[in-house]
Amino acid sequence: MEHKPRRPRTQVTHPPEVPLPPGNRPLVAPIYQSVKFETETVDGLLAVLRGEVPGFIYSRGKNPTTRQLELTLARLQGREDAVVVGSGMAAVSLPLYGLAGAGDHVITFVESYSPSRQALKGPLARYGITHSLLPVGDHAALERELAARPVKLVLFESPTNPVLRIADLARVTDLCRRHGALSVMDNTFAGFHQHGEYPVDLFVHSLTKYAGGHGDVLAGAVIGPAELVRRLRVESVLMGTTLDPHAAFLVQRGLKTYFVRYEAQCRTALELAAWLERQPGVRCVLHPGLPSHPQHALAMAQMKDAGTICCVDLEGGAAAASRFAESLELFGMAASLGSVDSLVNPPPFMAAGDLTAAERETSGITPGLLRLSFGLEDVEDLRADLAQALAIARGG
Ligand code: PLP
Repeated sequence: MEHKPRRPRTQVTHPPEVPLPPGNRPLVAPIYQSVKFETETVDGLLAVLRGEVPGFIYSRGKNPTTRQLELTLARLQGREDAVVVGSGMAAVSLPLYGLAGAGDHVITFVESYSPSRQALKGPLARYGITHSLLPVGDHAALERELAARPVKLVLFESPTNPVLRIADLARVTDLCRRHGALSVMDNTFAGFHQHGEYPVDLFVHSLTKYAGGHGDVLAGAVIGPAELVRRLRVESVLMGTTLDPHAAFLVQRGLKTYFVRYEAQCRTALELAAWLERQPGVRCVLHPGLPSHPQHALAMAQMKDAGTICCVDLEGGAAAASRFAESLELFGMAASLGSVDSLVNPPPFMAAGDLTAAERETSGITPGLLRLSFGLEDVEDLRADLAQALAIARGG
């Protein structure tokens, strides 16, 4: 903008621009922390509004920083496009609100992330969307439900949160296709570099976990074919679930170390899960990479990395599990997973209060079950910490 002498109040609201000279670029993309983008002319504005020329108008609809993240995620997951939203739950909810309506039916699974089930039981039920809750490995029941009525979409996870059951992706997606239901997979636990080769219609991720990676940002993404993502973006803009550009920047920065973090955390998880299994007082350890996992062969066939989480059942039940969780010094007793710090979820965190007794039985959540998420600490320090906490749990 041409420099004209202005009064101080005007100078602070219209600060000088500092354009970069041609050929001089920042190595890290800037955060476009601007809600509004202006155009030089009214015709220019109309052309952007009509989509005749590329451009940005209002960040609830589109912003260069969030767009960069969307394009990165679509490539990582091997799909055409993505839409990023304010949290993982917004990403789970967007296809449900955006693609289903009153009278539609959705299928999901008992073992899935509790708030995803609760979204279907609460708000979506109020809007007239019905659902069935099935065990994730029961393909006969899935086929029966799909055949019984038109089903809009099937929402599933693998590995499931928290008990790490593995969905058979080839079978589930094949059943969905044959019955005309969309397959929507929450791929948060496996990560963006896995499962892309399966014909899943939409992938959902909580970016709060491995993408952000540092426990300092909430975000989510829906990734899939351009036309479905376009429809969901319209819904997202109208519902206002848009991700803020600063949050998008933090996730984009986290992604630079995604692979080294995920791989290192997977190595630690597998090593310590195998070690935990051999310790006195440990009844059972669940981790898809362990040969003792009931679906180890399926996990190994579908996954490159078995994940950074394990569940542990102690002989002393819930009391021993709580003593163990309280005695850990390096594992933060906190919600969430997948960040650089190791975390423990004691039994009350796993409560799944929305399940009936029979569903709880199916879910595999036993009263003493706890979940460990392995971070980037030194593996020997983590082992020593687990050993001292196990000794306290046994002694209590
Ligand atoms: N999906 C899964 C599998 C999760 O584990 C979580 C959070 O733990 C979410 C979705 C929700 O993510 P957010 O906390 O970012 O809303």
